Amino acid sequence: MSDVEIVKAAKKRHRCSWCAEGIEAGETYKRYRWFGDDGPATVKMHPECYDAMIELSQEWGEDIEWHEGDNPRGCNCGHSKGCDRCDTKKAQTHNL
Ligand SMILES: [Zn+2]
Ligand SMILES: [Zn+2]
Repeated sequence: MSDVEIVKAAKKRHRCSWCAEGIEAGETYKRYRWFGDDGPATVKMHPECYDAMIELSQEWGEDIEWHEGDNPRGCNCGHSKGCDRCDTKKAQTHNL
C-alpha cells in the first residue's frame, strides 16, 4: 500500500470505496493509490472506514480484497447481523 493522504475537506462529493456511502463535500477523507487488476485507481474512504480496513488487514496479516459496499461504514463485519460495533452505532444514531 502506498502513502495515504488525508484530505481535510472534500471539494466535491465522493463515494467511499469501503462502505459505498457518500463522502460529502467538506468532510475529511483518506485516499491512496491502488494498483489493482484493472490498473491504478484512487481509493477514497471515510477515516473510520480506513481504520476498519487497516484493522481487518492486520487481523489477516496480509493485503485484503474487498468490494465497495461489502462492509458498513466504519466497520469490517461484512454486514453480519448482531455486530456489536454496528449495533452500537445504530443506537447512537437513534439518539441524535
Ligand atoms: Zn465509508
Ligand atoms: Zn459491523
